[in-house]
Amino acid sequence: MAKITRLPAHNCIFFRSGLCVYEEAQNPGLDPEMQCLVLTELEDRYDHLLTQADAFELSSEQVQKIWAGRFGEIVSWGMFCDIYEPESSEDDRCRFLFGNACIIRFPRCNGICPSYILKLPKKDIES
Ligand code: SF4
Ligand code: SF4
Repeated sequence: MAKITRLPAHNCIFFRSGLCVYEEAQNPGLDPEMQCLVLTELEDRYDHLLTQADAFELSSEQVQKIWAGRFGEIVSWGMFCDIYEPESSEDDRCRFLFGNACIIRFPRCNGICPSYILKLPKKDIES
């Protein structure tokens, strides 16, 4: 008997490089395991700094100054993630970002499923 295979879903709005962003698109940030390592690391460090600022009653200007002094010039995505790849030569954000999440952590799309939504071509407003 022939094996039934699902149709490819390359044109689904949730399809990214063979992976499916459906769950993250429904509930952004809900699953901490899916979030970008770099953004999570920076968020943790900033939270830590805010806790210290509270303890020492620092103003927001002082906090911003400390943050810029510690990380402003030196932070790069590659410092916290080995598989980071820039979006382009002009844009250093990681090309695997989806919101604050990392698409590499998402499940594989195995073809058209009940959540499939067709991506419509953008209209050309010039024509
Ligand atoms: S077809 Fe289904 S599994 Fe594939 S990307 Fe779309 S929603 Fe995800
Ligand atoms: S690959 Fe990119 S999006 Fe994923 S964790 Fe690394 S820097 Fe973040």
